[in-house]
Amino acid sequence: MSVLEIRDLHVAVDSKEILRGVNLTVKSGQTHAIMGPNGSGKSTLAYAIAGHPKYTITSGQVLLDGVDLLELKVDERARAGLFLAMQYPVEVPGVSVSNFLRSAVTSVRGEAPKLREFAKDLKNGMDALSIDSAFAQRNLNEGFSGGEKKRHEILQLELLKPKIAVLDETDSGLDVDALRVVSEGINRFRASGETGVLLITHYTRILRYVKPDFVHVFAGGRIVEEGGPELAEKLEAEGYEQYTKASA
Ligand code: ADP
Ligand code: MG
Ligand code: MG
Repeated sequence: MSVLEIRDLHVAVDSKEILRGVNLTVKSGQTHAIMGPNGSGKSTLAYAIAGHPKYTITSGQVLLDGVDLLELKVDERARAGLFLAMQYPVEVPGVSVSNFLRSAVTSVRGEAPKLREFAKDLKNGMDALSIDSAFAQRNLNEGFSGGEKKRHEILQLELLKPKIAVLDETDSGLDVDALRVVSEGINRFRASGETGVLLITHYTRILRYVKPDFVHVFAGGRIVEEGGPELAEKLEAEGYEQYTKASA
């Protein structure tokens, strides 16, 4: 059983306050969706939890099983059991997908997986996500299509088995088939009940495939409404306008 607790989090970028007091608790076995209009600070929340240097925590706490993540370096956060899939992954020429994934697994576990075992897990993961075997030898993120980036994120989830996964706009840029494959991957990953998922999205589309237990509406850098899956349906019908007016 794991718990991610975000307490009264305030975050600034270039000394402008973007997050204005976010409170959220995600437990293993739960899927939380954060939804909100563009510019409401959803990615800022993900970057701040990830430890991106551009995002300054001005106050508040982020705890994973009682450990203060904000005190940890980025790789230590991953080792503590946090996984973050970024809206814009970085290209790393000269590093293959396979090498990257093996180093990531090594870093998180604290020891290198046996080559054979890793090769088998990698193949199973790629097969499950309908990823062509040649993909493993490509340079990390170089020329990846939207669908390849997202499949690669879910492949990381399956190999790293984090306690808490934060997925930012995992659904953006996916056609219907890719969305289904990616959603099935998230559903396989969360079926164990041992991990918590924080799914950040602008659109309700992915929530038809990945049913959230809780929905939080983000506007103006804070959560302005919370509910169950029915809230996503309400947003689909009514949009975000009511919230953007209220928070402006
Ligand atoms: P969302 O993900 O909900 O679309 P963001 O977190 O990307 O929202 O952005 C929230 C606000 O913070 C926006 O006004 C955006 O311009 C600003 N912002 C976010 N990241 C940066 C950055 N690295 N530099 C400058 N401004 C930023
Ligand atoms: Mg945005
Ligand atoms: Mg964003």
